[in-house]
Amino acid sequence: MAEQNPLNPPNPGHDSLVDGNVLAAKSFARCGVKHMFGVVGIPVTSFANRAVSFGVRFFAFHNEQSAGYAASAYGYLTGRPGLLLTVSGPGCVHGLAGLSNAMANTWPMVMISGSCDQSDAGRGDFQELDQLEAVKPFSKFSVRAKDIKDIPNCVVQVLDWAVSGRPGGCYLDLPTDVLHQTLTESEAEELLASAIDGADRKLIGTEVAKSEIERAAELLKKAERPLIVFGKGAAYARAETELKKLVERTGIPFLPTPMGKGLLPDTHELAASAARSLAIGKCDVALVVGARLNWLLHFGEPPKWSKDVKFILVDVSKDEIELRKPHVGVVGDAKRALELLNVQIKDDPFCFARNHPWVEGISKKAKDNVSRMESQLAKDVVPFNFLTPMRIIRDAISGMGSPAPIVVSEGANTMDVGRSVLVQSEPRTRLDAGTWGTMGVGLGYCIAAAVAEPDRLVVAVEGDSGFGFSAMEVETLVRYQLPVVVIVFNNGGVYGGDRRSPDEIKGPFKDDPAPTSFVPGAAYHLLIEAFGGKGYLVGTPDELRSALTESFSARKPAVINVTIDPFAGAESGRMQHKN
Ligand code: ADP
Ligand code: MG
Repeated sequence: MAEQNPLNPPNPGHDSLVDGNVLAAKSFARCGVKHMFGVVGIPVTSFANRAVSFGVRFFAFHNEQSAGYAASAYGYLTGRPGLLLTVSGPGCVHGLAGLSNAMANTWPMVMISGSCDQSDAGRGDFQELDQLEAVKPFSKFSVRAKDIKDIPNCVVQVLDWAVSGRPGGCYLDLPTDVLHQTLTESEAEELLASAIDGADRKLIGTEVAKSEIERAAELLKKAERPLIVFGKGAAYARAETELKKLVERTGIPFLPTPMGKGLLPDTHELAASAARSLAIGKCDVALVVGARLNWLLHFGEPPKWSKDVKFILVDVSKDEIELRKPHVGVVGDAKRALELLNVQIKDDPFCFARNHPWVEGISKKAKDNVSRMESQLAKDVVPFNFLTPMRIIRDAISGMGSPAPIVVSEGANTMDVGRSVLVQSEPRTRLDAGTWGTMGVGLGYCIAAAVAEPDRLVVAVEGDSGFGFSAMEVETLVRYQLPVVVIVFNNGGVYGGDRRSPDEIKGPFKDDPAPTSFVPGAAYHLLIEAFGGKGYLVGTPDELRSALTESFSARKPAVINVTIDPFAGAESGRMQHKN
């Protein structure tokens, strides 16, 4: 007997009716969607239930903001659009947080929102909002299914747009009346088949120009102090094998951006991370792959960079190249561009020796800085500063081997210290506040990581203020039994204790807690226990080590509340100049 397709069971004899909910759910399932994040309610509950019945796993959150952050990170980790489902009006507005985060990070995501009855729009309908207008600044493509017959085509379009060219956020609007419209099963099947057949599946960017690859190779070869910089665009492109080949073939030192970390191991002998200022300040040619010359890279300008540095930029976005005006611009997919560059260099090889003054200078500086840091890290400081617990966490994570855990990090001091102390050895194993410096991504990213990479443990290292944005989602962790350990660096507030000058403590509300302060000694570990998860309160190296050992091997939802000296951190982390 022929195997039955569960999405399309034979229905001999009669042609039953399907509504918009069924057709939308079936369309996403048929396009290969495996997971969806969101919050249900009017008018999308039936859509979510139908999606589950067609084999799409639905992760129900408490707040669309966190679900949206999850969808954005899922897009980054899998290379397929992450899906967020929201109700109309306020649900859609909460979801904009995730959609805008996807745009800022150039990650593929689709937000699907129910909307009010089309015939009641403009008359104050339930949760009414002009959602197509609202999403405009935060999406690269948006569409409304105005009739049930539009649904399959709209679904195919949003999914395609999210991943084509420069990835980003897309929006699908499903009005209540359209979700309730019906048509026959066979009509639905026909529409679906023709939408999928007719899909204009755009390739990632255009084919890479050979001439630019030749110019890039030539410039690198002539360079005296070259540097390879790569970012989360290269990680998204899965360019790690090509990068490794390039670095090892040419002997050029490399510098990852925070989320580029792990494409090549941080411990690689050509890693320039610990000599960052020297590397970017003195290089004469920088090959920058899938990373924008934005604030994270000091706009590629003096005083951090030399004024004569020549940039070779590889980016899937032509607009990005036009904006930065590099010496050589390579438009296209990072993996493909590096593949071609490797071929070019193989035909006309060159390699910087380890004792070349530039390479040796960087490696010496990096070694010095690492050993200085290590001597700080080696001390057991109690009450905890940031370094002591970070070292213990680093060692516990490194002890897990491969597959390495995914590290989620947010907060000011916690994220800054974590970025330099935690070691990344595998690609796409670090998720942090990203291009937008978004706080509140923590639990959403944890859930996305656990769903996208089920073989990996997920370890969040968060400040207490970062954790607070999405703390209620610990219930979601417990409900789905995800292998996520959330470590909260609890210093009693944003940046920690009250650091106001006497001049700032006056006026009628001077006795209120400082704007940066939370309840001291908050029992965050009890929060997860309310739902049946495991909580730990730790304040010494032994307590922390034992909580890590137990929770890492249990691979069950846990929160470790780490008491940190409230005055150990700095205001604004390392970005005091912006505050
Ligand atoms: P980071 O924060 O790590 O510096 P950015 O987010 O600033 O990285 O930059 C990522 C860049 O990668 C974006 O400009 C984006 O257009 C680009 N990009 C996305 N996908 C690809 C790809 N497949 N190939 C090359 N570049 C890509
Ligand atoms: Mg804090």
